[in-house]
Amino acid sequence: MSQETVRTVELEKAAQKIAQAKNLVTFSGAGLSAESGIATFRDKNQDALWRKFDPAKLASQEGFSENPERVIDWYNARRKTLAQAKPNPAHVALSSSGAVHITQNVDNLLESAGATDVLHLHGSLLSDHCNAGCGYSETVDLANPQALRKCPNCSNSYMRPSVVWFGEPLPDAVMQRAIEETSNADVFLVVGTSAAVYPAAGLIPIAAEHGAFVIVVNTETSGASCNIELLGKAGEILPQVF
Ligand SMILES: [Zn+2]
Repeated sequence: MSQETVRTVELEKAAQKIAQAKNLVTFSGAGLSAESGIATFRDKNQDALWRKFDPAKLASQEGFSENPERVIDWYNARRKTLAQAKPNPAHVALSSSGAVHITQNVDNLLESAGATDVLHLHGSLLSDHCNAGCGYSETVDLANPQALRKCPNCSNSYMRPSVVWFGEPLPDAVMQRAIEETSNADVFLVVGTSAAVYPAAGLIPIAAEHGAFVIVVNTETSGASCNIELLGKAGEILPQVF
């Protein structure tokens, strides 16, 4: 068989598995939103203003205590970009199914495309909470995010974005439900994430061990053990398999 024939066969097989799935679970990473113009952490095309800063340092408790205003300004720049962004055909295709979506993305593009059950493993840009841990939180207006401010509830610290920073654990309840849904999946569809990094590296084997048919869609080979790997842009592949 030619390579093109193999690809057609694999696309058809993936489409058939997805159509027949009773418990479809999707698991996405930065590659899903990249086509919507959301810069990934390591993206060279980030806003020139922020290119000189190391995102790993900005997105950390250490960076926040060093310069809280800089961290909030950086997140607010990302929020304004997100306010302008639109879901791409991959978000639309995923959201057309009744799947449970587990994502590492902190944007709301799956929800904008109509998805109702989205588990954000790394938190969300749409919310702020008190950095002192008093429990106070607020919804964020992406187009007009507030500048650095003290927590209005306890004033012990500043408000911070409700995303998981480097060195912080993933939200426990969300992770528990992600593991549960992954264990129950009969088809587990991985989109736009390198399977070498936790938690992807952990969820894919859980799905496989529980008997799920694992499909990986990514621009480069992920090295994940899976049943089908479809290489290419999620925005081109997913509309063909849904
Ligand atoms: Zn507080």
